[in-house]
Amino acid sequence: MPETNRFLDYAPAPESTAILNLRESYGLFIDGEFSDGHGESFPIISPATEAKIAQIATADASDVDRAVAAARRAYSRTWTKLSGADRGKYLFRIARLVQERARELAVAESLDNGKPIKESRDVDVPLVAAWFFYYAGWADKLDYAGLGPNPRSLGVAAQVIPWNFPLLMLAWKIAPALAAGNTVVIKPAETTPLTALIFAEILQQADLPVGVVNIITGAGDTGSLLVNHPDVNKVAFTGSTAVGRAIARSTAGSGKKLTLELGGKAANIVFDDAPMDQAIEGIVNGIFFNQGHVCCAGSRLLVQENVKDEVVDRLKARLSTLRLGDPLDKNTDIGAINSRAQLERIRELSNIGEQEGAERWTADCEIPKNGFWFAPTIFTNVSTSHRIAREEVFGPVLSVLSFRTPAEAISKANNTPYGLSAGIWSSNGSRVLGVADKLRAGVVWINTFNQFDPASPFGGYKESGYGREGGRHGLAAYLTGAALESSGRGSSSAALTKGASK
Ligand code: NAD
Repeated sequence: MPETNRFLDYAPAPESTAILNLRESYGLFIDGEFSDGHGESFPIISPATEAKIAQIATADASDVDRAVAAARRAYSRTWTKLSGADRGKYLFRIARLVQERARELAVAESLDNGKPIKESRDVDVPLVAAWFFYYAGWADKLDYAGLGPNPRSLGVAAQVIPWNFPLLMLAWKIAPALAAGNTVVIKPAETTPLTALIFAEILQQADLPVGVVNIITGAGDTGSLLVNHPDVNKVAFTGSTAVGRAIARSTAGSGKKLTLELGGKAANIVFDDAPMDQAIEGIVNGIFFNQGHVCCAGSRLLVQENVKDEVVDRLKARLSTLRLGDPLDKNTDIGAINSRAQLERIRELSNIGEQEGAERWTADCEIPKNGFWFAPTIFTNVSTSHRIAREEVFGPVLSVLSFRTPAEAISKANNTPYGLSAGIWSSNGSRVLGVADKLRAGVVWINTFNQFDPASPFGGYKESGYGREGGRHGLAAYLTGAALESSGRGSSSAALTKGASK
């Protein structure tokens, strides 16, 4: 055990799973109730233990038809007949039920996803409630949102989400869609559908009119059937750039409004006048939060050359204190990697990093026998051409590069096909503003990282996608004729790489 850990040993403090009322198997949530899927069902497992959690249905083409038809019926018969204020009441009710069942949702999320309970409890679930509260407030104020006169809903929204923030991504998708008057068919990721299915129970508790939200499960084939269904009006996708590109192609010319939230390779820029204690914590939070399974993770550390050694030494010391292990333990900092496939990708890219000449350092921590784990890792001597500096690892792996001048920092930060987020650490206000203005990233955090607020738009440039979620921008993506900069692809197609321009 490393020296630094000896004084920081904690007794195990696992959160009980007794609060969960799990079913052995889950069907598809269509028209307000669970029903069997016609595809082959599949098990979901805990990534920390590999123990089976439940059996999950797969929606085939006929099930996707059923779900879209239910959403269409609810759109024309109930949801559009309600006033904005009444739609808002349902959203408020959902938000309050999420708060009431917060502990259960946090435990389910950590069990299914592998993220530390302190993150699902203190970040994911509170933000889910915040998202519904925020958009509940907009439902009766669409006319005053600055989106033009009489903005109107689009119809049925097809939404596909990834596994890294399962319930939070669901909230980002469903809350603005419903506030704007649309109905929804959503597909969670195949490794993490559990909280979406518990959320279906919350919708029943909230008495949401049947068919307004339909939740179907399955893998990529189900997602593809959903986004390509002829009777959906809007597609919202969060996931990998490769799949996003395929969806942009297959829906081009279909008249479907499209928003894509894709990958990232964010630069976290540390100047020599940075508040260093905060910067070290910010770097750790930036890349090791949620095991680095974060699209906007600060995976490229750009540090000014004269403080590079100090920053790297302090980072290594700090990482040696992080506790890796049981996601349900309240002391855990680093949980499990979500799947074997993702673990293999992280290992492969890390091995390539070494082969290409970067220097690898890994925190000395005990790895549990079962499950999928990857210890926090730092690469130094990284050059901008290395694959670990260019490709999204989507794991707890930080690449460290250095720079001498602000201009060099900007040029290196922008030297990426992505453009989702960035961070700047400096005490010099004019330098911070000058650099932030030149970064091609949808979000730039100053002396902080990974801060999310429902009122603040979030989204990318270039291969990070187009469209914004959060704030008024997030509403615009679900309304006809609403024009806000970067609110997504309209009915005409646009090349993914063109995206929105700054
Ligand atoms: P993925 O693209 O493989 O899967 C995402 C979702 O798409 C899953 O539900 C999957 O079943 C579905 N899917 C797969 N193939 C499909 C197809 N052909 N048509 C329709 N749906 C399909 O990505 P992933 O591995 O689950 O997620 C990780 C990626 O998501 C990372 O690249 C990450 O950066 C990105 N991400 C982005 C954001 C953001 O807001 N920008 C947020 C979270 C994750």
